Amino acid sequence: MSPAALRPEAPLSGLIGGRTATKLSKELDLHTVQDLLRHYPRRYAERGQLTDLSGVPVDENVTVLARVSYVTTRRMRKRKGFVTEVHVTDGSHTLALTFFDNKGWRRNQLPVGKVGLFAGKVTPYRGPNRSMRGRGQLVHPEFRPLDDSGDLAAAHSAEALTAFAGALIPIYPATSKVRSWDIADSVRVVLDAAEMLPDLLPEKVRVHRDLLPLGAAVRAIHQPRDHREYEQARDRLRFDEAFVVQAELARRRHRTSGTPAVPRRSRVDGALAEFDAALPFTLTDGQRRVGEQIAAEIARDHPMNRLLQGEVGSGKTVVALRAMLTVVDAGGQAVLLAPTEVLAHQHHRSLTTLLGPLARAGMIDAADDATRVALITGSMSARVARQELLEVASGQAGIVVGTHALLEEHVQFQDLGLVVIDEQHRFGVDQRAALSTKVTDGVRPHVLVMTATPIPRTVAMTVFGDLDISTMEEVPAGRAEVGTHVVQASVKPHFFERVWKRVREEIEAGRRVYVVCPRIGADDEPAYQPPHVRGSAGGSTEPDGGTAALSLAAWMRSGPLQGIDVGVLHGRMTSEDKDATVAAFESGSVPCLVSTTVVEVGVDVTAASTMVIMDAERFGVSQLHQLRGRIGRGNQPGVCMLVTAIDEPSPALQRLEAIAGTRNGFEIAKVDLEQRREGDVLGTSQSGRRSSLRLLSVLRHEDVIRAARDHAEAVIADDPDCTRHPELARALEAFGERDEAEYMDRV
Ligand code: ADP
Ligand code: MG
Repeated sequence: MSPAALRPEAPLSGLIGGRTATKLSKELDLHTVQDLLRHYPRRYAERGQLTDLSGVPVDENVTVLARVSYVTTRRMRKRKGFVTEVHVTDGSHTLALTFFDNKGWRRNQLPVGKVGLFAGKVTPYRGPNRSMRGRGQLVHPEFRPLDDSGDLAAAHSAEALTAFAGALIPIYPATSKVRSWDIADSVRVVLDAAEMLPDLLPEKVRVHRDLLPLGAAVRAIHQPRDHREYEQARDRLRFDEAFVVQAELARRRHRTSGTPAVPRRSRVDGALAEFDAALPFTLTDGQRRVGEQIAAEIARDHPMNRLLQGEVGSGKTVVALRAMLTVVDAGGQAVLLAPTEVLAHQHHRSLTTLLGPLARAGMIDAADDATRVALITGSMSARVARQELLEVASGQAGIVVGTHALLEEHVQFQDLGLVVIDEQHRFGVDQRAALSTKVTDGVRPHVLVMTATPIPRTVAMTVFGDLDISTMEEVPAGRAEVGTHVVQASVKPHFFERVWKRVREEIEAGRRVYVVCPRIGADDEPAYQPPHVRGSAGGSTEPDGGTAALSLAAWMRSGPLQGIDVGVLHGRMTSEDKDATVAAFESGSVPCLVSTTVVEVGVDVTAASTMVIMDAERFGVSQLHQLRGRIGRGNQPGVCMLVTAIDEPSPALQRLEAIAGTRNGFEIAKVDLEQRREGDVLGTSQSGRRSSLRLLSVLRHEDVIRAARDHAEAVIADDPDCTRHPELARALEAFGERDEAEYMDRV
């Protein structure tokens, strides 16, 4: 049988060993020659330079280059056979390798002085050697010794050795079943297909950037002769990754800028002017500045596409409302799209209140330029919905608030001029697009997207690259301080008790308190037990998923908060119940609310001064920031208590302490990123997953992204449909099928 032809799209099974091909496909999702060639090494071991063993993380799959420093074999006491303990070293740190077998043969394969690659999962050392206690070991690691010339020894790869005598040994993202060197061996077989890979980068751009040709780059990323060659390869392939994303975004921008929109010019004597005159506070500089930007853009005859990044509590709603009033003044309608029903209801209430007589068109006490605010959500009764839909379709309602139910086909507008999307991180690009089609004749509405999740500039440029960006970092003056404390409940039970005493005091002083839990729980759940009680009750551990809102509320009512109305809010409630609960909390009739993260975004109750977050370590950094943003919204000083059962120093505890240390969203975003990048040093366990961004980090490669953006812009301006760039066109098509979330993931 003749071997299959070597082409990029050829299946691996015809070219390399069947067993390896199956493993590559099952374990790493690599099926074709092209897939394998695009599976780049994660790092390189350097011949003559051993891996630093001081940072080998427990529980990770690692591949290390090290030298054997000690070997001992002993008979097992309880079973037949031998234990061979081998120590390998990087010169100063030691890692143990433990083998069990019948004859103790390993001893011969790994004599002292031998250098090789060792791969396996790191576990804590449990052998008899005292000096090794507290260190790591690999049980039954796979290994491949280097031969005396310093090359990877393998019977079948004599040919490979001459083909690859470079100084860098590629270490691939591997799994416990497919070792890095299995991958390297397979890559060698198919590497000649590198020159046949489809190249999406226009030659002009490549030459201008002085980048390697694609084939050479792919060869060199797998088998670099030296560092320089590796860097050149990496630069080329990294640029490709940035370029395809930026080309897609350039194409979207190009489409929008060619699309017509109805200009909505502000009036000096309309609803906006009346609103501003009646506003009970002065706008912050940021609110004013962004307001002017928006007014200028919606007055143009191409659609505005703007992202407003505003710190939690910076007052984005007022900015949005002022833009909506401008549109209403100009005879159009505006939509405010919220990610949850709770938030939609709340926006509806607060817009109606803020507008006062301006929201009462048709009523006796209406203001001159009044309009109406309609509300559309998925769970409305048919009767109410019909009424609201009618107001929207007839144009009586100038402002429409709703959830994604607004995207449905039967929702018709009279003249939709502006779409505001709150808390964009909960929505995808698709929804933005769906709303934009609610207008006739290819005319697009203006779009304002708002988010409180701070996004580093490069990420914004990538993920929201088709949007212009405004930022509001300041919060209104006079905003109260919020102190945050980490409460280690099992270590310091009296602190835990103080939490509830404080909650009680706040409520008795007329303020409101949120208590947030990681899950809802069930009605027949065992009763809640505080962590220190649980701990001493004899090893019963925390229930899966952490404290349940339902059982905690029951415990509070019968325990520390006796006599106080404690409400519960969670996602399993009907929207009427949720709404009634939030309203009761707002009014103060139920001053304490135990909830899940349904309160995470946007909920705005100014009298709320205190928040207790149970099992805080279970929440993400940005999530904690959002949650905490619910308090200290008025002029009451606030306190946020992060309750955790963590009882010893750990990264999770550090994370909570970092949150306690700052309220600045941009700093918190940094903590988040740094933490997420942890574990990326030596571990290879999570790396099996395929991502289309392998070499590009949207955080670290701002310069690459910028350059790619400029070039992409030029290429698309010159050839918007990519008719002269067929490979790019194909790549963009594939890109469209992927989830943009992937790019966020890589942050
Ligand atoms: P976010 O940006 O987090 O969505 P909101 O728009 O909900 O914040 O505003 C938070 C609170 O601040 C609201 O109660 C709002 O009425 C109030 N607010 C907004 N702008 C100002 C201002 N310039 N001065 C004082 N309070 C303001
Ligand atoms: Mg908001």
